Amino acid sequence: MGVFSRKDNRAGKRVDKPKEEGQELTLVTDCYCANGHNLTSDLATFDGFNGITITLRNSRQEGLLCLSPLIGDTGRSFFNFEGEAGEIVEICCPTCSEPLPVYNECVCGADLVAFFSSPKVDFGNCIGICQRIGCLHSEIKSNRDLRLFSRRGFFD
Ligand SMILES: [Zn+2]
Ligand SMILES: [Zn+2]
Repeated sequence: MGVFSRKDNRAGKRVDKPKEEGQELTLVTDCYCANGHNLTSDLATFDGFNGITITLRNSRQEGLLCLSPLIGDTGRSFFNFEGEAGEIVEICCPTCSEPLPVYNECVCGADLVAFFSSPKVDFGNCIGICQRIGCLHSEIKSNRDLRLFSRRGFFD
């Protein structure tokens, strides 16, 4: 029986990429600006989870972006904002309008800004997003991803 199931497992298993590396953050249930305002809201939901709502601002317009709280998910909804791919926007807290703090520079040259997973400012415990609309890194990144990313620097 054990032999059979092991055989079945191996045959049916698709080798995508190694993924198991301990506990990794996959869902952001709460996240905060540097002033401790909670950014999650039900303005838009993703798979039933409340999205992360941030203000986007540039010289032409100001609107809201609601991001999927699932790490790596590119789901998002814009509200009153016409995002153009490649454009860099200021990302702010909808409550206090303070720009989110810069965590690092993205490979695209724009800044990666941070949200915090607790009301305390702690860059050891944050998630990030690129300010450039349409950037590969414009979905939320776990802290672990951010660390890997900054160590690796540029890559193609
Ligand atoms: Zn705030
Ligand atoms: Zn970027």
